[in-house]
Order: sequence, then C-alpha cells, then structure tokens
Amino acid sequence: MARRPLVAGNWKMNGLMASFYELEKLIAGARNLANVDLMVCPPATLVAGFAAAARTSRVAIGAQDCHALAAGAYTGDISAEMLKDAGAQAVIVGHSERRQYHCETDAAVREKARAARRAGLLAIVCVGETRAERDAGHARAVVRTQLDGSLPEGDADFVVAYEPVWAIGSGLTPTTSDIADMHGFIRRILCGRSAAAGEATRILYGGSVKPANAKDLLAVENVDGALVGGASLNADEFLPIAGIYS
Ligand code: PEP
Repeated sequence: MARRPLVAGNWKMNGLMASFYELEKLIAGARNLANVDLMVCPPATLVAGFAAAARTSRVAIGAQDCHALAAGAYTGDISAEMLKDAGAQAVIVGHSERRQYHCETDAAVREKARAARRAGLLAIVCVGETRAERDAGHARAVVRTQLDGSLPEGDADFVVAYEPVWAIGSGLTPTTSDIADMHGFIRRILCGRSAAAGEATRILYGGSVKPANAKDLLAVENVDGALVGGASLNADEFLPIAGIYS
C-alpha cells in the first residue's frame, strides 16, 4: 500500500525568535517537495509563531509533548487543546527523552495520545529499545510492550516513530536489515489491531538520520519517513533528507 511519507523535525529544547529565519528557508525549500509531508516540531514557545508563518506553506507545525487533560491546575504544562489553538497540527508523545527524564510510563503516553485525538491533533507515538535491551535480545519485546501500552485504542489516526534510544543523537544507526525487521514487526502488530488501519499507519524511523544516510534508511520496507532531531535544526540538512522523496 502506498503511504504518503512524513519527514518530521524534532527541535527539542532548541530555537529562539531568530530561528524564524530557518523556518523561512524550510518553507521556501518545501515548495519543490510535493511527494512528502514535511513537519517541524519547535519548542512550545515557537509553536504559535511558526504555525502563523507556515500557514499557507507545505510545512506543518507540530509540538513535542502535551498534557493529558484539556485544562486545569498543572503549572507549566500545556494541553493538546492549547497546542491546537496555537496552530499545531500534530504532537510527539512518548519521546524517549520524555520517558527517561520525566519518567513517562506507557500509560501516561497513551493518555497523551488520547488527548491529541480529542483535540484534533495527529499523535506521533515514539517507541524504541535501549542498547542494553537490544544486546540482551529484548528489542522486539520492549517495542511490543510499548506499543501495547502507549497506542490509543481504535482506528485513530496516529503515526508510530521507531527510535532506538541508542541511535538518538549518537551518530549510530541500526543496520537496514535490523530496521526492516523492526518495522515489519511493528506493521504486523498494527495490522493485528486493525488490518486496514494497520496498513495505512505511517511508521517513521528516527535516530541519527542525516543527509548522508537518509537514502538508505528511507528505502527500507515499511519505513514511511523519518523523525529527525539534530539534522532538522538546519534547513540545509533537513531539506535534503525530505528531498529523498522528490
Ligand atoms: C530524536 O530525538 O527524535 C532524534 C531522532 O534525534 P537525532 O536525529 O538527533 O538522533
């Protein structure tokens, strides 16, 4: 089945008002990229401004996290409804840095994915094993547990991002055959929930995707795009990755 690819950039805790310049470069470059969905997920401070600046462009704006509830006494948190109101179209949930530094459990990630749906945002649900888990031969079991616990119920429209923790920001990537194996495994799990929705769901690969390795990584079966960290901060690096699909 042909799934429209998605290349999403996760800026993490990077980006200031001066970064609008980078967004403008991305918007200009995206005009030639008709075969791929392009997204940037800046820090929350930039979501509204980026969404306004990108409104008539091919670049969608996403956020990096949301609270499970719509509103309330949760100092410092931001709800999915607020992100939607600010112009976001999507939100990353369950990134390994949130799981690690904010102790987010699978159940908490599922609540956030549900919140995204409630607010009309596309949830990008992240899963992935640590190096120790892979070395112990537990990579598939870990990913299965994360999917079982983190995905929202039903045929909701969500994206899965497979991001081996050890590949994030390290310059290391799994072999293409390991990626094919894991993405095929994830596809089978998704199809086990719902054949049609499972076939339609995009599975992104994330972890040290760069212009130099993107062609090989994005050609792997069941890889429907990428979630890109470091290389998404610079339009001159990010655009060639998305440009693989042109
Ligand atoms: C990420 O954090 O989602 C990520 C994939 O980072 P990087 O591309 O820098 O490895």
